[in-house]
Amino acid sequence: MPRRSRAPSGRRRTSPELIPRTAVFLFDHKSCEKRALALLRRLPPLHGDPVVISTVRGLRDRHGPVHAGAFLRQRRIAFDCARPEFPRVFVHELFHFVWLRAGNAVRLAFENLLRQEWQGGARGELGWSAEWRKAALGKSDVRRRTRRWREYCCESFSDTAAWLYSGVARHEEFTLERRSRLLRRAWFRKTVESRSLSI
Ligand SMILES: [Zn+2]
Repeated sequence: MPRRSRAPSGRRRTSPELIPRTAVFLFDHKSCEKRALALLRRLPPLHGDPVVISTVRGLRDRHGPVHAGAFLRQRRIAFDCARPEFPRVFVHELFHFVWLRAGNAVRLAFENLLRQEWQGGARGELGWSAEWRKAALGKSDVRRRTRRWREYCCESFSDTAAWLYSGVARHEEFTLERRSRLLRRAWFRKTVESRSLSI
């Protein structure tokens, strides 16, 4: 294990990972920056290394064209900022970073919430990304926690965050039934909003 370095004065230095760094976003596009900063004020405090927000036309993933993509290892989110969907999409992509760093306990707790919804037959979702994955799930995906199930949980986490924090009150993709919305909101209040989020 590497030894902690000491400050030149000989006093013990506080370990840098104990001081949450306020998240820094680097923008390549002014209009994107203004809209993103307004949204960040609605979120719980964030900390972590910088994330680059860039504008790219004609983005696709392995399923087809997409509004945006989060490149977690490169710490970059690529958007088409002209879209009126920016608030929902920005929060959604940002919460892919939160999910990655949330830790197994938080991820499993959210999975359990979704499993209860599923077992109770709750219809709908809070974004298309989660909704089409939910529609494709079979019983064994849920029971065996297959990749399909885990991808659904990850997308549902981001879509739930976008529903809560984007400032968009109504949207045709917000189809989740009311009881489940209330449970998700309560879960986010307790688990996500109670601390600074690592991204
Ligand atoms: Zn996503």
